[in-house]
Formats: sequence, C-alpha cells, structure tokens
Amino acid sequence: MRKHILIADTSKVSRYVLENYLSEKFNVASVSSISEALDISNEIKPDLVIMSYELKDGNAFQFCESLKEKNLNIPLVIITSNKEEISKYDAYEYGIIEFLDRDKIDESIVDIVDEIINLYSNINLSDSYIVAVDDSITQLKFIENVLQQTNAKYKLFSDPKKFLMEIEKQIPDICIIDIFMDEIDGIELTKAIRKNKKLVNTRIVIQTGSRESSLIRTLIVFGADDYLLKPYSPEELLLKIINNVKIKKINDELDEINKELFLKATTDPLTKLYNRRFILEQLNILIANFNRYLTPFAVIILDLDHFKHINDTYGHDVGDDVLVHFSSILRATLRKTDIIGRFGGEEFLCLIPNISNESIATVVSKILSNVRSYKIKSNNETITFTVSIGCCIFNKNYKTSNEIIKCADEMLYMAKNNGRNRAYLKIDDDIIEIT
Ligand code: GH3
Ligand code: MG
Ligand code: MG
Repeated sequence: MRKHILIADTSKVSRYVLENYLSEKFNVASVSSISEALDISNEIKPDLVIMSYELKDGNAFQFCESLKEKNLNIPLVIITSNKEEISKYDAYEYGIIEFLDRDKIDESIVDIVDEIINLYSNINLSDSYIVAVDDSITQLKFIENVLQQTNAKYKLFSDPKKFLMEIEKQIPDICIIDIFMDEIDGIELTKAIRKNKKLVNTRIVIQTGSRESSLIRTLIVFGADDYLLKPYSPEELLLKIINNVKIKKINDELDEINKELFLKATTDPLTKLYNRRFILEQLNILIANFNRYLTPFAVIILDLDHFKHINDTYGHDVGDDVLVHFSSILRATLRKTDIIGRFGGEEFLCLIPNISNESIATVVSKILSNVRSYKIKSNNETITFTVSIGCCIFNKNYKTSNEIIKCADEMLYMAKNNGRNRAYLKIDDDIIEIT
C-alpha cells in the first residue's frame, strides 16, 4: 500500500519540486496553511508531514502543539533554507524529527523519506518500559517528547533517590541516565543498578555532555551499555532506544531458553524431581564440602514396594500417578535445602545436607509414616503403597559417591529382605532398623 505524505509549504515552487519527486512512490497531498494541514492530518493521518517553518496562518511549532492536543502521532520533518534561523533544539523539543535543506532537494529525497517512514511506522515499543533520570526538567521534557511519539510505557524521574526506591516495582528495559546530577550521580546509579540481580538485562544508556573518553570508559566498566552525547537529536535517542530494547528482549529470551535447557537437563520429566545426573553432581559437591569443612550429610535411597504389582493391577498410567504422588510426599516431608531426585524407575535418591546422627532417624521414619498414611483415589478405588529405605550418613571411610551409594543400596536390600515397608540406617558402624 502506498504511504501518504503531506507537504505544507507557502512556497509553490518548493511544493511543486517535492510533489514531483515524491508522487512517484507515495500519495502526496500539498497545502499552504496550518488549518488545511490539520484537516488532512485528521482525515487521512499521513505517514509523514514535510513542512516549512512559516505557514500562512502560523508556524510548524504551533502545528506540533495542535497534533499533540489531538493525540496524533505523525512524524514531522521541517524543510528549511540557510536563511531561516530556527533553533534545532527548540524544534526537537516540539518533536520535530529531521531537517531537510530546501536548496538540496533532489531525487534522493525519495529514499530519505522512505527510510524515515519505514523507521517510524515499524517502531513497536508497546511492551517495553523505559525510564529516564535527569535533574534537568527541560531534558526530561525533551526525552518525554520522543517517548510520546512511540507506544512505549515510560516514567521520568528528576530525583535519582526516588528512582532507586521505585526501580524494582517494574523492571525497566532501558534506564536513560544523566551523568552529572547533584545528589547521586550517574556513576553511582549505574553501580546500584548493576548490583541488583533483577536488573541484569536492563540496559543502561548514559547521557553526557562530556566528550571525555575516560569518563565514558569508567561508566562502561561499571556496567553502562551505551551512551548518548548531548546535545543529541530525537532520532538519535529513538535509535538508541530501539536498538537497546531489541538487545534487552534478546537477552531476556536467552535467559528463558537457558532456564528451560537447565530444567530439561537436570529434571525428570514425570516427577519434576532432579534427574540421576544432577543428583550425582550434587552428591560430588557434598563430598567435596565434607572433605573440606566436615559438613555432615546423609544419602537416602528409596524404592517403592511391589511396584510391579501396582502397575499390573491398576495399569501403567496409575503407576505413573503413584510415582508423582510419591514425589510430592518427599517434597512435603523434606526441607527445601534437601536434594530430592528420581534415580530411575521407582527408585529415588535424596541428599540431606547438615543432618546430625540423631535427626536422620526422625526424617526417615517421617517418610515411612507419611507414605503409609497416604491414599490415592483412582477410578473409585483407594490405592495405598509402601516404600523401603536404605540410608547412610557420610563419613571419612567413604571415598567416592559410588561407595556411599553402594552402602545405602545394601541398607535398602536389607529392608527389602526383612519384610519391606521399613528402613535401615547405617551410622558409622551401627546399623539401625526403623519400622
Ligand atoms: P520390590 O518391592 O522388590 O522393589 O518390587 P518391585 O515390583 O517394586 O520391583 P521391580 O524391580 O520388580 O519392578 C519395578 C517396576 O517398576 C517394574 C517397572 O515396569 C516399573 N517401572 C519403572 N519405571 C516406571 C515408570 O516410569 N512408570 C511406571 N508406571 N512403572 C515403572
Ligand atoms: Mg520396587
Ligand atoms: Mg526397583
């Protein structure tokens, strides 16, 4: 679909030249007054307005104000000649995005306009949140003008302390931060943001009037991601925002993917408990900790009794359900710091860090009794089950993970051989039965 351009200029010649070039690619309307320009903007909402500063019944800044009142976001470019003295920064504050030189209009205008339209019509910042901190209200107003032209959510802070207090309420995609502020400067803010783990992916864009590269270096070292040299144009700001939001979103996605991959690599899909590989890794870490700090821990192996019978009686799916229920019993019985895993089939392995010889028996008998009293309702039937447990407390006599697992397995074997639904515990050289 052809895009719409509105030209508003008092000079007939200039309108003619522009129309001539642009109508090749765009639908062009051309007027000479603010009132006509507003009518057309209301009616067709052009994709771009190219306007001279002076018009019959007002100037481009007034036109900008009227667009804002009507909530119309249309990118506006001013066409000007050297003779006119318009302050670029005044214009930027009104939201004008670009200046075109009337004396240099040639066929390249088609590409320039095409690029501007492409950039502005493809901006989608609707799910981004941008925060700016600056003690200059004028600078904040300037930033707000640019942000208002996008659909980004944003918040402006003139007080850096307030910014720090509120930063965690909603994690920003970008923080635009001024370096020189009275109370807390940009370097301190950068450090504070980087200390906060929740804000790792938040992009920090520093704005500075100083062209001293050492200052910028310092900021980058402290964790700023990008910078804007003041005075900068609205378009420069917009481009920084677009690019940094893009990077932030990619990093968020990567974090999600990594989390998923970690979960897939470490957990058992049926019970969502840790898998065999992860639990063995954790066991090796506990052994290393024991060797260094003598931190005690216990290894518990659990095997459901006559599980084959449950499968044969109720079906494999019900068997799966029992495994899931059993996992939730373990989760509910053990502590958050205990490491619970499915070792394979209907066999589970738990690592209990920082446990004393006295309390391990309590833990194990709690598991036994919680399993005994647990009832699963399935197809109008109530299923109960039991578990046999082997447990060892780690000590200097064990050298490797295999040795301690072998010992817990021997205890489990004893429990199975002596009637199931019970536990055997090995503490140093003593073996204790728990029924
Ligand atoms: P014991 O009391 O001696 O441990 O007897 P058991 O029947 O529990 O032990 P056995 O090793 O003879 O059988 C284990 C059964 O567990 C056989 C196997 O099909 C079943 N099983 C292993 N993994 C799964 C699973 O993921 N889902 C289901 N439903 N069954 C499983
Ligand atoms: Mg079994
Ligand atoms: Mg088994």
